[in-house]
Amino acid sequence: MEINMVDLKGQYLKIKDEVDAGIQAVIDSSAFINGPAVNAFRLHLSQYLGGTHVVACANGTDALQIALMALGLKRGDEVIVPAFTYVSSAEVIALLGLTPVMVDVDPLTFNVTAENIRKALTPASKAVIPVHLFGQSCDMEPILALAEEYGLYVIEDNAQAIGAEYTFSDGRKAKTGTMGTVGCTSFFPSKNLGCYGDGGAVFCQDDELAAKIAMIANHGQKVKYHHSAIGCNSRLDTIQATVLDVKLKHLDEYSRARNEAAAYYDRKLRELDPDGKYFRLPARLPSSTHVWHQYTLKINDGRRDDMKAFLADRGIPSMIYYPLPLQEQEAFRDVARAGEPLEHAAECAHSVLSLPMHTELTHEIQDAVVNGIREFFKL
Ligand SMILES: *Cc1c(COP(=O)(O)O)cnc(C)c1O
Repeated sequence: MEINMVDLKGQYLKIKDEVDAGIQAVIDSSAFINGPAVNAFRLHLSQYLGGTHVVACANGTDALQIALMALGLKRGDEVIVPAFTYVSSAEVIALLGLTPVMVDVDPLTFNVTAENIRKALTPASKAVIPVHLFGQSCDMEPILALAEEYGLYVIEDNAQAIGAEYTFSDGRKAKTGTMGTVGCTSFFPSKNLGCYGDGGAVFCQDDELAAKIAMIANHGQKVKYHHSAIGCNSRLDTIQATVLDVKLKHLDEYSRARNEAAAYYDRKLRELDPDGKYFRLPARLPSSTHVWHQYTLKINDGRRDDMKAFLADRGIPSMIYYPLPLQEQEAFRDVARAGEPLEHAAECAHSVLSLPMHTELTHEIQDAVVNGIREFFKL
């Protein structure tokens, strides 16, 4: 039995007819850029997310960059970002000449908190990028209240959590990516809604800002060859939009499959280690659903790397997302500032291990993974 971190082939085979026909139709039409499928997908995704504007672009990193460009931030403005995240969230800040201010994360949910953001505030703070890491929302209500109090823009990095839903204390529900000033996502193949190449999107509720985002993604032009702002060239191509439009219809079913797999891991792993002596199971935020982009354990007593190697020897893949927190990355040494000690980010980087998680997992595969863990700890 072959075990993989993700199984895009198995997922494809179930939607093959529809995907193949869609791709063939794009080739037949030769409308490779801005074909009708791009608008159709934008509309369907907007409906799925509850009516937000959707601007499609080339990848998730571009989505973050375009969002920051549209907000008109100036050199020296500070943008707060969690220290435990994928590099994109902080890279684009520095790329635009803004200052990334790294803050610590909650050691259980891996997500940034309002308290940590508050500690990093200075008069130069202009925006915050909460990253909904591994598939569950940050606790947005206090973050949005803090942003309101200090006039901060909120740019949600929703690359890992599309489809997750946050519940406010008054019972109101919102999809991740639609709560802040702007939301950004990636359609990289292994993301929960992934295409067969690169893709991304920016979400925005405000009509005027959405128009500006669309303009910036298209060379800063509203009228062809008339450029009113410095923009970039960032497009979702028609073939990718076609694939995404098919997969969007299955997104909730994919999230359900991931939840079932996570519940099965939880049950089997809790049986192995009921008191959390050897490892800790991923924590849930009560106010968010989880879409399980990753199923991430924390391994106690510095045994993470040994465990990873032990599993690899038995054909069981696992991944470390992420081995270095931002404050330990060479690229950020001179461009970023730490708002406070970043001990949890460092501790997470040294203890996390993500297990195979995808829509095609079977109990047989998961039993093999759990068995490998049992053998490693001699349980
Ligand atoms: C994948 C990812 C991105 C970047 O997306 P790309 O499409 O690869 O540019 C940004 N932020 C987070 C948290 C991600 O996981």
